[in-house]
Amino acid sequence: MSDQLKLLCLEGDGIGPEIMAATLAVLRAASPFLKRKVNVVRKDIGFAALNVEGSTIPQVVIDDAKAADGVILGPVSHNAYPSVEEGGRNPSGVLRKELALFANHRPARTWPGLDAPSRKAFDLVVMRENLEGFYADRNMFAGGGEFMPEPEVALALRKVTASASTNIARAGFELAATRSAKHVTVIHKANVMRMTDGLFLDCARAVANEFPSVGYNEMLVDAAAAHLVRDPSQFDVMITTNMFGDILSDLASELAGGLGLAGSLNFGTHHAVAQAQHGSAPDIAGQDLANPVSLILSVEMLLRHLGETAAADLIRASVSAALASPDTRTRDLQGTLGTREFTEVLTSLVEEGAT
Ligand code: ATP
Repeated sequence: MSDQLKLLCLEGDGIGPEIMAATLAVLRAASPFLKRKVNVVRKDIGFAALNVEGSTIPQVVIDDAKAADGVILGPVSHNAYPSVEEGGRNPSGVLRKELALFANHRPARTWPGLDAPSRKAFDLVVMRENLEGFYADRNMFAGGGEFMPEPEVALALRKVTASASTNIARAGFELAATRSAKHVTVIHKANVMRMTDGLFLDCARAVANEFPSVGYNEMLVDAAAAHLVRDPSQFDVMITTNMFGDILSDLASELAGGLGLAGSLNFGTHHAVAQAQHGSAPDIAGQDLANPVSLILSVEMLLRHLGETAAADLIRASVSAALASPDTRTRDLQGTLGTREFTEVLTSLVEEGAT
């Protein structure tokens, strides 16, 4: 193991610079608990890169991401970008494809002392396939998965492969085997999409046979949405395809207290990218209103993935302590603190824990 942890930091658009500053402050405060010295390299993406380099994700950023131990990716306003021909590529989709990040690990959990829309406490993970499915911007080797043969006809192709299905199933089962509940629910719509979701289910069942100590059931995606609202505590690890996972994870995060708390990690065999679940929130950008917890918890997941368990545990415990009191919450959680004040509280908690 090298004695340096090289992290590439990409602020992104909207609230990106504010929540990235908060995240890096927390990382610095946790440094006494890190086994390795952290070396943070900053590069522009999004509108900042488009204005200077003509692309929202220049090739040098992709190369740096491949060379780094991990990437911290801020939110991006890709809906507002110009066309791909004019340099407007979605940095999130490009990194997932270029770095072969086949898994998107999205936890959703309630926090002690913090009211949430869910009446029951819960702690679940959505393990979402990340490279294919309905995601037209990354699901083909060349060209896109969406096209318009006529002005009034738009078509989208959904791709499901045995290799990607097996990869995401194995990632989910491996995670479930480390958790106390040790249970997997595979979410699908194989009653309608018999071939695509049928293939996905076959692969998940084959992987399930390798993990006899992990409990297993299957659920249709519509039923899963209803069950999540009724009682999210019945789920442990939910394994599913790309778009179902995107939607169910937002639902689960909202039930747990809001998107501002929802961390996520994209990973593959060789690379990992920490990325908040929410978007760039342009409506509150630059106003010191953003809750940085989602990106901070994403970095906590990245550190854990890179073997830095002590620092990750400290960050998680400090976030939990800050969220426990209404006096130390941001406004999206009915608190009074701005991004900067909240960051000061959180870094103090981390520093106290680190000494
Ligand atoms: P984008 O176009 O990048 O997806 P969006 O505003 O459409 O941005 P989100 O960024 O996910 O989508 O935001 C949805 C709502 O949640 C917005 O009202 C936003 O202000 C709020 N929100 C999202 N993230 C946060 C955060 N970290 N802190 C506080 N509020 C947030």
